[in-house]
Amino acid sequence: MALRVDNNKCIGCNLCASIAPDAFKLNDINHRSEVIKGAQITDSVKEAIQVCPVEAIGEN
Ligand code: SF4
Repeated sequence: MALRVDNNKCIGCNLCASIAPDAFKLNDINHRSEVIKGAQITDSVKEAIQVCPVEAIGEN
């Protein structure tokens, strides 16, 4: 399973990066979230998936 963020949905609210800073960061180009390489699916990541207001985070 790999984490992904749908950049068409992400609104750059920074919640995921606040909750799971080892897994998500806002990029410098459009301030949308992106998955940090090698990120593991931790409890914090699962929480970020739950709280993302636009359901942009998923696993595939
Ligand atoms: S919580 Fe969702 S909308 Fe907010 S920055 Fe993360 S992926 Fe984007």
